[in-house]
Amino acid sequence: MINRDYEGKDKEGMVLRIERSSIHDGDGFRTVVFLKGCPLNCQWCSTPESQKFGIEQAGDIIYGQKMTVEEVMKVVRKDAAFYFHSGGGMTLSGGEVLAQPVFSRTLLKEACTEGINTAVETSFFAEEKIVDSLLPYIMTAYVDLKLMSPDLHQKYCGVENGRILNNMVKTNQSKEKFRLIIRVPLIPGVNDSEMELCKIGKFCAGLKRMEYLQLLPYHRLGSDTYRKLGRPYAFDGLMPPTEEHMAASRKILERYVSHVI
Ligand code: SF4
Repeated sequence: MINRDYEGKDKEGMVLRIERSSIHDGDGFRTVVFLKGCPLNCQWCSTPESQKFGIEQAGDIIYGQKMTVEEVMKVVRKDAAFYFHSGGGMTLSGGEVLAQPVFSRTLLKEACTEGINTAVETSFFAEEKIVDSLLPYIMTAYVDLKLMSPDLHQKYCGVENGRILNNMVKTNQSKEKFRLIIRVPLIPGVNDSEMELCKIGKFCAGLKRMEYLQLLPYHRLGSDTYRKLGRPYAFDGLMPPTEEHMAASRKILERYVSHVI
């Protein structure tokens, strides 16, 4: 599943789509490059079209295209002036960025060379050496922490979380200068129990370089895409958490972590 090909501007990767002028995927105005393919299979995933590694078709819509580093950078460069004035830049998202390590690293390296701020959104599910190889080119890492319990993580995300937690601990000790932000999606009935949130809070309290913890409410935005792809949506009928639910969950996390947003 991992592409270990050569490195260079003509290196190809599988891209789902590129969104310009995003304000939700890092600081300032950002161009978000969504890569296609993810080793996880989170049951609440809002981008099911990003999970499979190959090109998919649903009716008239084609999900995924092969692009070279240079083709992606041509799009990224278009908004260079906006990055400079807003503190924005390029964000690599997924799917899973670390599942195409050479392509991702080459893109990040190219952006750094051109003075473009870089961020990644990742599950951290990858070999430690892959994380290490990308870190020098990452300015901000947004890392998802979904569940602490290995059996629940396996049940709801399709893989165990040992590798993810290990990468967080190792990254916390890294000498590379990047910002570490942990994101917790709050999924009612999955990770919103007091016991699970306490485990998450305790673990994050040990991550000294974590800048803040971001609690994100579950949402249903991807549910139509499941239908288009002819796949069942496991959480059909699940409603997003209320503001009160979010506030109560935040309070539990704040027992351990001072900066929760
Ligand atoms: S890690 Fe992200 S992209 Fe992958 S399945 Fe989970 S929610 Fe979807």
